[in-house]
Amino acid sequence: MTEVSRTEKQVVGGGYHKPVCVACSRELRPEKNGIGILDMVRGKGYELWDADKWKCPACGIEVIGGFGQGPVRSHFEDRFAQLVDSYRERENLTEVHYD
Ligand SMILES: [Zn+2]
Repeated sequence: MTEVSRTEKQVVGGGYHKPVCVACSRELRPEKNGIGILDMVRGKGYELWDADKWKCPACGIEVIGGFGQGPVRSHFEDRFAQLVDSYRERENLTEVHYD
């Protein structure tokens, strides 16, 4: 997806350490790439980020990490709503609420 290549991601194997589960002392494993994270402010989408889902092989805890250097789109940019919808249609969108 060319929209996503707009930001450099923290690629495992590119010098970044994998996330670690504190409770289990195990490295998390990549579970799914291309997760959309929608930051919500006062009930409205503010920024859309692309990230990865990680999972602990021992306890199963799931964490979203591997964010790019910046959002894929901000609310004031062209095609923001369409991009959000494309993640949502793939059941690949998690909203984060700050208020
Ligand atoms: Zn664990």
